[in-house]
Amino acid sequence: MDLILLGPPGAGKGTQAKMMADRWEIPQVSTGDILRAAVKEGRPLGLEAKSFMDRGELVPDRVVIGIIGERLEEKDAAGGFILDGFPRTIPQAEALQEILAGLGRKISCVLSIEVEEEKLVVRLTGRRICRNCGQSYHLVFNPPARDGICGRCGGDLYQRDDDKEETIRQRLTVYREQTQPLVGFYESKNLLKRIDGSDSKEKIFSGIVEVVESDCRG
Ligand code: AMP
Repeated sequence: MDLILLGPPGAGKGTQAKMMADRWEIPQVSTGDILRAAVKEGRPLGLEAKSFMDRGELVPDRVVIGIIGERLEEKDAAGGFILDGFPRTIPQAEALQEILAGLGRKISCVLSIEVEEEKLVVRLTGRRICRNCGQSYHLVFNPPARDGICGRCGGDLYQRDDDKEETIRQRLTVYREQTQPLVGFYESKNLLKRIDGSDSKEKIFSGIVEVVESDCRG
């Protein structure tokens, strides 16, 4: 199954992608995670991407398309993948179609996780992430048992630079202007499945499982 998770920042794409990856044993492919790892390791890709990410803007299409082209050719993606945070623009979606056509594959479903904007701001400002294993927490909705410490691996929790309120507003504007048009793009191809993202992560996940297991395994 070749799946895309679409949705604004804070919709829960990363959390859901991890749960989906465990259930169907296919990798989560997150361009945000790949870029953050490149920044952390000081690689040229990271140097190029960092200023865009810090401002809450999109990294140029050419850069992320290159990342995805390489990543989807890796062995672990041969049986399917969950794209989390890609595509984010129409040119990225068009490039993805070409990449997949070159591999003799096509998208199974696009899951659009829908949440009101004010809820997203609350979710994102409280988000904390483990520096070591990437596990996500929320100060109010899913607090760690020990302040600042990951319950899974004991790593330190941190707030992403782009989860500060001003940057969040900018990311939401970018989403509305550049990424939201993908909803119509995939709807016209009959690939879009809408998921209510306002509930708990467990409820959102059951919604996803129901849709994927009935409509996306072709
Ligand atoms: P995310 O973790 O998906 O919220 O991504 C964090 C940041 O990485 C975004 O705000 C962008 O600056 C950059 N980024 C991630 N994925 C993409 C993409 N598909 N296209 C452009 N920029 C991206």
